[in-house]
Amino acid sequence: MEHVLKWWIIAAALVVLFFIIYWFSSRKKKAKPAEKIYVEGLRALLSGEDRIAFQKFRSVADLDTNNIDAYLKLGDIFRKKKRFDRALQVHRQLLLRHSLSSEAKKEIKRAIAQDLIESGDHHKATLVLEELLKMDEKDLGVTTKLLSEYEEQGDWEKALSLREKFFKDKKGKNRKILALYKVFLGKKLKSEGEFHKARVIFKEALRYDEACVPAYIYLGDAYYEEKRVEEAVSSWRKLLETSPQAAYLVFEKLEKALFELGNYGEIEKIYDQILRDDPQNIQALFALAVLDEKRGRKAQAEQKHLQILDQEPDSMPSKLSLIKLYQDKGEKEKANQLVDSLFDDFLNQTERFFCEKCGQSFSEPHWRCPFCKEWNSFGI
Ligand SMILES: [Zn+2]
Repeated sequence: MEHVLKWWIIAAALVVLFFIIYWFSSRKKKAKPAEKIYVEGLRALLSGEDRIAFQKFRSVADLDTNNIDAYLKLGDIFRKKKRFDRALQVHRQLLLRHSLSSEAKKEIKRAIAQDLIESGDHHKATLVLEELLKMDEKDLGVTTKLLSEYEEQGDWEKALSLREKFFKDKKGKNRKILALYKVFLGKKLKSEGEFHKARVIFKEALRYDEACVPAYIYLGDAYYEEKRVEEAVSSWRKLLETSPQAAYLVFEKLEKALFELGNYGEIEKIYDQILRDDPQNIQALFALAVLDEKRGRKAQAEQKHLQILDQEPDSMPSKLSLIKLYQDKGEKEKANQLVDSLFDDFLNQTERFFCEKCGQSFSEPHWRCPFCKEWNSFGI
């Protein structure tokens, strides 16, 4: 009898043990699907199967309403499909939850900022990014985005203080950009007729980067527009000293201003000086050739244009000038040859300013590439 009882106790213990094991394993099984589906969702997202990813994340969210990341990803997929209202709705609802960690809050706000940027609501995006930066002043991703928003909206003052505070200088590259912020700010003031204020700003730009080409150009312009021609000339002449390779950008302005001052003879000296400092300066050589033509010194003009074509065989202005010179002299064959080569060149090239970063070409120089948004990428 005692023997039987013992077996009963052992059997009962086994049954209890079995139920305990079953209970634990079933609990594990319940938790597993959400995790498994979540991983499947990530996998689908990575391989670009957004529709499948969306379904997976939605089931995860149903199974485990605390899985914030699944909701974040759902919103991201809405954004990717350009359904910005839905993306914002999903992301914003997450913010209403209680007891979010500060890391989670930041993650959600970053997603909201991205929704707003891509939906084109740059004003609200900026506000969210500013909030984020207050939460974490060292967030590089947020700073970069905020900076690009300020630049996009032309808020040069805020861009300047953010860039100055956050980015350490890499071989002066940062100071050159800060100088250009000032230039843009000054340009805005100049267009509003605030010439004095504009000039102050252009001079500040030169303190950041004394070789800032547009600062000299616009500083001269701001004097010129107020009929202070001599000061305009001296600003443009400073450009010749600091950046001779960009001097040609002010040749026309200088010629006009010196003519108005009754000092046109000075321009020849200026071009000669540039060529003494930089014998390869084709633009100065060309400007001198044009002066020769104007003064009837045809042989000298011809010689200079040929010299230019030696250095730069595609120079269209020199070819055109030579065609005219040869026609005047009756040398038809030489003129015709040049017309043919000019025709070939023309078919190949119409734009002469190239962005060194993205390779895009333009008919005028840009200090910030309108295409890839790179600063100072035109080699000027
Ligand atoms: Zn570019």
